Amino acid sequence: MNMPSVLVTGGAGFLGSHLCDRLVGAGHDVMCVDNFHTGSKQNIAHLIGRVNFELIRHDVWLPLYVEADRVFNMACPASPVHYQSDPVSTVKTAVLGAINMLGLAKRCNARILQASTSEVYGDAQVHPQQESYWGNVNPTGPRACYDEGKRCAETLFFDYHRQHQVDIRVVRIFNTYGPRMRPDDGRVVSNFIMQALRGEPITLYGDGSQTRSFCYVDDLVEGLLRMMNQDELVGPINVGNPAEITIRELAERVLRLTGSKSRIEYRPLPADDPVQRRPDIARARQHLDWHPGVELEDGLKETISYFRHLVNQ
Ligand code: NAD
Ligand code: UDP
Ligand code: UDP
Repeated sequence: MNMPSVLVTGGAGFLGSHLCDRLVGAGHDVMCVDNFHTGSKQNIAHLIGRVNFELIRHDVWLPLYVEADRVFNMACPASPVHYQSDPVSTVKTAVLGAINMLGLAKRCNARILQASTSEVYGDAQVHPQQESYWGNVNPTGPRACYDEGKRCAETLFFDYHRQHQVDIRVVRIFNTYGPRMRPDDGRVVSNFIMQALRGEPITLYGDGSQTRSFCYVDDLVEGLLRMMNQDELVGPINVGNPAEITIRELAERVLRLTGSKSRIEYRPLPADDPVQRRPDIARARQHLDWHPGVELEDGLKETISYFRHLVNQ
């Protein structure tokens, strides 16, 4: 059987590297494209040397001419700390990266999946968030480089689909966590676990009453693969775990699971930080027969054991 060849941009990142694992394991020819801005060779070191895996150092702002049957466009810093450190680069990655990969998909007649985000809903006025909701995004605030960059990327995907018949898939990913997040990633799960393991204060922004819904990485990758492998729906489709908790509860849970004596230190809430977020996953259940299977408690234990290993190295 001829397996489709797959290009994964951002393949050395947190989600991208887990996706590469699944694709290489399934026997696809996989090209991982990354500029190592927030990803690392360590994440894919175990794949180097496999005959069906190639690593290309490349920036997706620039054109890329390779052949592929399928493209997962994952390249983009995802943590507010990193995407806000050079916001102009973030917009370029999101928008020019989408244009280049769509151009490649058009030329290769490839199916292309965009890693979009729940951030397209912004500080949502509708709860839980359904795909039909258009969002509430501040176009000039500090999160806009990411939120609006990703919204523009969705626009480009749908325009290439309507205008050039490119075979697109758009997945809106909700907060996902797990092994291979960077210790200095800056997102909440890795921050809290690292702080707890090092006995440092847990930095809780605001009063901790804001909510998020955390999906374990293996569940998320399964959702991406199912979306790519079906012929019916282009999206957008929410993929995430609808189990919602406050950030204060998350801090308490991490403290309990690590057995840490760290204290909670309150810090100001960053500008435009969404108050609540939970995916409505009815569409994913219906069209992909997908729902998350890993409980937060179990996923956190896996993630803690990964970070514990890093700390003890
Ligand atoms: P990550 O930062 O670990 O991975 C992003 C990868 O893209 C890194 O390897 C980075 O080096 C690479 N990259 C960044 N800019 C690039 C460029 N210009 N050219 C080539 N490579 C580049 O983040 P992640 O959590 O793995 O996120 C992967 C994708 O999923 C991103 O597009 C992100 O927006 C999306 N997403 C993630 C989450 C989540 O909770 N993890 C939620 C919503 C959306
Ligand atoms: N592109 C690319 N790889 C390809 C084909 C195109 O990187 O295999 C880039 C190309 O540089 C262009 C962009 O994708 O800027 C959009 O391509 P498209 O064909 O839509 O645009 P055009 O070339 O007509 O401007
Ligand atoms: N957060 C926090 N302490 C941290 C990092 C994040 O309290 O050290 C909060 C942040 O303000 C937000 C939530 O946790 O309300 C999730 O933040 P993250 O950066 O992980 O993701 P996003 O805001 O993009 O959903």
